Amino acid sequence: PSNYENLIVGADTTVPLRNGRLVTAINFDNAATTPPFCAVMQEIMNFSPWYSSIHRGTGYKSQLSSHFYENARKTVGEFVNADLSKDTVIFVKNTTEAINKVAHSLSSTDEQPVVLSTCMEHHSNDLPWRRNYRVGYIDIDEDGRLNIEDLKYKLEKYNGSVKLVVVTGASNVTGHKNPIYEIATLVHQYNCKILVDGAQLVPHSPVEMKPHSSPQHIDYLVFSGHKMYAPFGIGVLVAPQTSFSTNPPDLVGGGTVDLVTHNQILWADVPQREEAGTPNVFGVVALIAAIKTLSQLDMKKIEYHEYRLMEYALMRMRQVPEVELYGDCIHLKNRVSIVPFNIKGISHDLTAKILSMEGGIAVRNGCFCAQPYVQKLLGIPDEKLQEHIQHPELPRPGMVRISFGLYNQIHEIDKLIALLWTITSNKQYYIDLYKDSPNFF
Ligand code: PMP
Repeated sequence: PSNYENLIVGADTTVPLRNGRLVTAINFDNAATTPPFCAVMQEIMNFSPWYSSIHRGTGYKSQLSSHFYENARKTVGEFVNADLSKDTVIFVKNTTEAINKVAHSLSSTDEQPVVLSTCMEHHSNDLPWRRNYRVGYIDIDEDGRLNIEDLKYKLEKYNGSVKLVVVTGASNVTGHKNPIYEIATLVHQYNCKILVDGAQLVPHSPVEMKPHSSPQHIDYLVFSGHKMYAPFGIGVLVAPQTSFSTNPPDLVGGGTVDLVTHNQILWADVPQREEAGTPNVFGVVALIAAIKTLSQLDMKKIEYHEYRLMEYALMRMRQVPEVELYGDCIHLKNRVSIVPFNIKGISHDLTAKILSMEGGIAVRNGCFCAQPYVQKLLGIPDEKLQEHIQHPELPRPGMVRISFGLYNQIHEIDKLIALLWTITSNKQYYIDLYKDSPNFF
């Protein structure tokens, strides 16, 4: 584990501080995006001589690229233990596109089916369901963990009309992992299907879709390449092959059809009918290189390594006075390595700015595209937020989030902790110092 840092591009990038000094950048914003593996960039270079548009090209390069692209579905399927005799792997841009695709494919103009989402979802696993569905939200407890009793209650209450339960594998705010196999078992008892948003889970823990015959089977799984050491622009939707037969594809055009006349369209089979336009071959090459690297490293070992980072960070952060931590800080095995916090008396955006400008430490602050969840954790009632609609100039509530990748180091956490002590011991100094200070750019 000690040489994980050599696996990624940019581990030694230097950035300027406020005083002009250059320091090695510390990236604690991996829940947003992870840097690419060196092996991923190398594989893109290796593949470059074969760069070509796939599927209908007759040239050798095009045939080779097509072969690689189609075979990649198998590698992805194996990585998450999907049964590709029943499931299909669709390459998409990202998790957001994947979820919108499922929402489109299951929507119906005759009825408004019920989808049960949760109060801890990223907007990408909430907003797509607000169109064409009636959405019920499964509650959370005061630590931000999913309330399974409420799920049972709502499955019973809406029995017969719930089509799908959508749930994040791990929260991008608190890192809380949901018991997805337990939830799947419950959901299947009610004849519904389950979609797991794997954006924060797949890069950090082993994930298995389980056989279709198992009650624990995950029906839909979605995730993004850019959060698992591949570049932007590639993501995955694993779904039952049969789930795309009702509606026409969401995006239509080249690649989605088998036959077109002026008044007739015969759609292609999945996955092609769901991959409109020229496919992102380099994205898939990169994703496969990332998956192979992660598999070689062993997801269990990665999970344990990141758990140790989080455990250490939490232990040290607890000792800093006036640092408020959110989420369940006891059952750490049920979290991926994300730590949201605030410093009492300093706004989240100022804390994040100070960490960057005084320490070269990149974090994220705000509501992390999960506003209802963050509001609940902060104890802010909905009515209070109305003020922000009337007064957009008011500072918004939020948190600071650190999130680790496999390459992060204990000594980087030590630097964060030292800076947190400095900030909390000199709060007013920093508030005054940064009152009118600009950003770097
Ligand atoms: N779900 C979760 C839990 C996420 O953390 C994110 C990204 N922050 C998304 C969905 C959306 O991912 P993308 O932006 O890659 O579509």
